[in-house]
Order: sequence, then structure tokens, then C-alpha cells
Amino acid sequence: MTEKKDLHHHVENDPAFKGLAVNAGIEQPNVVNDDSIKRFLNKKRRLLPAEEYVKGILEGNITLLSKAVTLVESSKREHQQIAQEIIKECLPYSGKSIRVGITGVPGVGKSTFIEAMGSYITSRGGKLAVLAIDPSSERSKGSILGDKTRMEELSGDKNAYIRPSPSAGSLGGVARKTRETIILCEAAGFDHIFIETVGVGQSETAVHSMTDFFLLLMLAGAGDELQGIKRGIMEMADLIAINKADGNNLEKAEIAKVQYRNAIHLFPSKDSEWAPQVLTCSAFNKIGIEAIWEQVEKYKKLTLDSGYFHQLRNSQATYWMHETIEEQLRRNFYDHPEIKEKLKVLENYVRNDAMSSFVAAGELLEMYSKLK
Ligand code: GDP
Repeated sequence: MTEKKDLHHHVENDPAFKGLAVNAGIEQPNVVNDDSIKRFLNKKRRLLPAEEYVKGILEGNITLLSKAVTLVESSKREHQQIAQEIIKECLPYSGKSIRVGITGVPGVGKSTFIEAMGSYITSRGGKLAVLAIDPSSERSKGSILGDKTRMEELSGDKNAYIRPSPSAGSLGGVARKTRETIILCEAAGFDHIFIETVGVGQSETAVHSMTDFFLLLMLAGAGDELQGIKRGIMEMADLIAINKADGNNLEKAEIAKVQYRNAIHLFPSKDSEWAPQVLTCSAFNKIGIEAIWEQVEKYKKLTLDSGYFHQLRNSQATYWMHETIEEQLRRNFYDHPEIKEKLKVLENYVRNDAMSSFVAAGELLEMYSKLK
């Protein structure tokens, strides 16, 4: 009996057996080498040297592009420093794209349109980045590009990159971040940039100041002819597309097209010498998309030939330089602790007619100039 038992004895069944015992004499591989320590530390801090982001971006690495955009959007000084370095290095590789601004009231079909137009562009070999400017994103969180399921086809397309609006902040701040993001996307090889905004506020002006072509989506027969779209926004448009021209809406859309064509005739002519177009489309059924893109290409050719394309980009670059300076100055001024304190006091004086606004402003500015 005892003999038999011994035959079936396995060492691992012995309670004294240690599964993880190290056999003497077997050299253990070094699991922690210098490289993995570095990787670990970098991962922990989530920051790489600027040149690594730049290298990744230029190789078209979307993960590194996204991380760099996050740095651009961050307000942390440390992040901003790296972001600015990345932007500087990417700048020479940027600019080779067509930048299209897309606006229209919520519900007009912007996401559906971008999905349709975007898929058309990537099917022709283009690479598309979709960005957004929505300074009110606190209010409409998730409604503008945040909800990726609205652009299902594009979000699964490796030639498309969708980035929601930087979270709420001043319009100037949000717009600057978007403008910087354009540079990174272009350096990453995206030759089509769409910038979406909700057609109800001032963000149109910001989008207009960073795009080559401005597209306004509208609906037919929605009652109020201009649907809350300000005349100024209509005047900016290079193309008005009347969306949802399908089903019972088709006839109304055709009528609206004629009405809008008549209306835009009355607007002052554009510096670009481009005559704005009015077309109908059905983003949902992907009808009329190609015809709209043809117009964008026609516009590009016209303005490249006339020199306007680059002239506009140069004036936009100067505009953004001034915007950035103004924003920085304003922030430095209002964030200064001594100014903050004095401002409160003088505001009170002004409110109670104890001091004129100009004298108060003068005093504050003088104080600020001495503080530096
Ligand atoms: P956004 O708020 O401007 O981005 O609008 P969405 O793209 O989310 O569209 C709002 C609604 O309109 C959705 O239910 C879409 O399916 C619908 N829609 C968009 N484009 C069309 C279209 O061309 N025809 C029809 N019939 N419906 C559309």
C-alpha cells in the first residue's frame, strides 16, 4: 500500500510546495530596466518631450495628435509651454488644407451633413479633421460633436479625426485653441478641416476668421424666413445649403432656394469676388453633397488664382496675433492681485458717481504700468 502511494506522489500536492519558488542557480531576467522606468514615469506624468509629440504628429499618429491637442486645450502653464513648442515646430508643415466653416441652428442637420460630406471626402482619398467651436458647451454639453454616435460612420473612419469643442471658456480662448488645433491637424496630414459651430451667436465671426470657406445650413419653410440667423451671418456665407430637401419638403426647399438666391443678390459683393451660391441638399439621403463640394473646389481655384486665398490667410494670421495679444494683456491685467483689489474700490466710486469712468480706467492702467 505504502509503495503504491509513493508512486502517485506529486511534489505540488505537498502542502509545503511553493508554486512561486525560485530554483537556485537559475538566473532571473531583469524585469525593470532603465527604459521601462522612463516609460513608467512618463506615463505617470502623461507628458512627453515636445519633440516626441511633433514626431508623432508628423507621422500621422492620432494618439499623439490627440494628446497634443489636449495640451493645447489645457490652461496649465506647464502644458501650455509644451503646447506652444509643439505648435511652433508644426507650423512649417501646416496650411496645406482647405478649411471650411459650417454653421446653422441646432437641428438643421450639421452633424448629418458633416457625416455625409466627410464620408464623401474620405472616399475620394481626402483626410478630414472635424473641429468645433462651442463656447457655450457647458449648456449644450454633448449636443455638439460630443455625442459621437451622431457621426457613427466618420468616427469609425481612419481618415477622419473628430474632436469636440474645447470645454467652456471665453469665446476668444476657445477660438484660439481651435485655431492652434488646426495647425496640429494639418501637420498630421489632414488636408480638409471642418469647423462646426452653432449658428446662434458670435462664434460665427470667430469661425469665419479662421476658415477659407463659410457654409451656412438652413431649412425651408421654417416660418421665420431667417430662422434667427442674423443677416450678418448670411452675409458671411459663401454657400447657403438648404438641407432636408427630401420627401414632402422637396418643393418647399426649391422655393426657398429661389428666395435666398434673390436675397443674397442684395448683399454687398465680397472681397473674394466669389458670388455666394444657394443649393439644396439632403444630408440624410446624401443627395446634393457632391454638388456642394464642387462649389467649394471652384471657390478654392478662383481664390488661389486671384491670390485672395493666401491674402485672406495672411490677414487672418495677423488678426489672430492681435487677438492673442489682447487676450493675454486682458488676462494679465485682470488677474493681477493688486489690480483686482483696486478695481473693486474704483468700481464702487464710478458706480456712485464719485469718479468718472475714464479717470478710474486711467488710474488703474497707470498703476498696472508701474507694477511691471
Ligand atoms: P444638428 O443639431 O444641426 O447637428 O442636426 P443633426 O444632424 O443632429 O440633425 C437633426 C435631425 O434632423 C436628426 O434627426 C437628423 O436625422 C435629421 N436630418 C438631418 N439631415 C436631414 C435631411 O437631410 N433630411 C431629413 N429628412 N432629416 C434630416
